[in-house]
Amino acid sequence: MPSDLDRVDHHRGNADWVAGLWHAEDAKLLTLDPESRFSTNAGGSKLRMTRPFMEFDSQRHRLLGLLNGSPIFAVEELADGEMHDFREVAFQLTDNERDIAATAAAVTHWHRLEPQCPRCGAATVVINGGFARHCRRCGRDHFPRTDPAVIVAVVDAEDRLLLGGQTAWGDRVSVLAGFVESGESLEQAIHREIGEEVDISLSDLRYFGSQPWPFPRSLMVAFFGRATGTDIRVDTDEIAHAEWYTRDQLSAKLDSGALGLPGNSSIASRMIQAWRAGEAPI
Ligand SMILES: [Zn+2]
Repeated sequence: MPSDLDRVDHHRGNADWVAGLWHAEDAKLLTLDPESRFSTNAGGSKLRMTRPFMEFDSQRHRLLGLLNGSPIFAVEELADGEMHDFREVAFQLTDNERDIAATAAAVTHWHRLEPQCPRCGAATVVINGGFARHCRRCGRDHFPRTDPAVIVAVVDAEDRLLLGGQTAWGDRVSVLAGFVESGESLEQAIHREIGEEVDISLSDLRYFGSQPWPFPRSLMVAFFGRATGTDIRVDTDEIAHAEWYTRDQLSAKLDSGALGLPGNSSIASRMIQAWRAGEAPI
């Protein structure tokens, strides 16, 4: 689905145009704190945005885009009131709010982390409404990065699902995931990660979907994969344990409280729900 958030890529280079939007009657401002938590209503079911109330500052105020024509800005500063991060509340936000929250978290984190030119080390200035930084010393423009990661729901010939966990997760189990390495395709990363973590080969891969995961700047790309065998050998440097589950076995363990699943905001949760409902794409 296309996003309703128009990122105005062709206009955001015009500083006067960006500054003018700040004064639009329907402009909104989302405040994030230095932990990338944003203002919400009580309970976190809705973003709390205000009218921009101070002077526009091109170095601090980020134009996220136009939502159905209304300018949406973000600013990082200490804030009062209820604050939540994306992981805690994304599942109860609307699609539009999720787009705003993920973009705001990713962009503000990048400015916090990389104020200097990665090439020559000089201080850089914010341009393009906050979606780029320019180095006056070496002339380079720099853009926020996104790091791809693969997340894979592995099923066997009997349609059992492979779920694993790390020691720090306690009783929680999930599908397997890992970062894509430099020079690697998504498919190669999947075969490598599943081989490394559980020594399983995959015969078939099907795309499921993707999700920005701004902790701090990942893009989770989700696939279902069919295992060629069922003998798991866990690499304990990567994960602590992994097991095959039928739908009934998983339901029983969840009902008894012996196992927990990933939070509702994650694409891992959507993948497991799809498999439980018999709606996996493989
Ligand atoms: Zn430079």
